Amino acid sequence: MKKPDQSQRYLFENHPIRGQHVSLDESWQTISQQAGLEGRGLTLLGEALAAVVLLVDTLKIDGSVTLQVRGSGPLGLLVVEANSDQKVRGIARQQDKIEEGMDLQQIFGSDYLVITIKTEGAEPHQGIAPLQGENLAEALEHYFSTSEQLPTRFWLTCDEENVSGMLIQKLPGQSTDDDAWDRVSLLAATVTDEELQQIALENLLHRLFHQETVLLFDPHLVEFFCSCSRERTGGMLLTLGKAEVIDIIEQEGEVAVTCEFCNAQYSFDRIDIEQVFLAGETAPASATAH
Ligand SMILES: [Zn+2]
Repeated sequence: MKKPDQSQRYLFENHPIRGQHVSLDESWQTISQQAGLEGRGLTLLGEALAAVVLLVDTLKIDGSVTLQVRGSGPLGLLVVEANSDQKVRGIARQQDKIEEGMDLQQIFGSDYLVITIKTEGAEPHQGIAPLQGENLAEALEHYFSTSEQLPTRFWLTCDEENVSGMLIQKLPGQSTDDDAWDRVSLLAATVTDEELQQIALENLLHRLFHQETVLLFDPHLVEFFCSCSRERTGGMLLTLGKAEVIDIIEQEGEVAVTCEFCNAQYSFDRIDIEQVFLAGETAPASATAH
């Protein structure tokens, strides 16, 4: 039976601890086919995707969470994004073989990943997370334990068919049970990749925390969606400047832009470009700033 792509919250009734679970099949397969990766590169893309879906739902923001790494390593680019409408997209570019035993810093050729949180009507918030630990989950846990964020544990897993993940987060507030966070963390850490991917969340929570009362909320359906458009692509051309764009037209006959996230192609000829710049020059700045 086909599983829905979904993200679901849960809450420990007697402790200030919340959790989140995600499982993606169809949206992940769309993104992974687009990326054309395999092995460790594919795994990192999938784990990062699961992580942003967990984060956007946990933060309860009206906006988006983007996680990105750019570096000089074999996997030189990874960008994943999830928004509060449960739309996801992601890309990764691999230019070299990832050798056995490489750590995250060597794979990406970078020391850190950037987490950008955009909330409706506010300046974007950027966090820098050092690429420390064995895997992305550990790097994210390190970030949450050293920044001013709430202590958070992540479990992320991925294969060609599915990505799944789970987090638990300690909320501010007094607990009558000082050991609750440690106990729940230990129990959660017994989860296996197979359980994360294959067991219905209700059963998984019972298996992990059967002595606790856990409230399970309704799931949110998640889907692949790319927010690119002809208008936004035109806006990007505006930032290049007219001289540069005309230069491309003279050499190539047109400006062709392919969206890296979804492969949509946007092409602009000389007349289109005149219109883009005419509209850009007369429109208020806010209409073109994306
Ligand atoms: Zn696109």
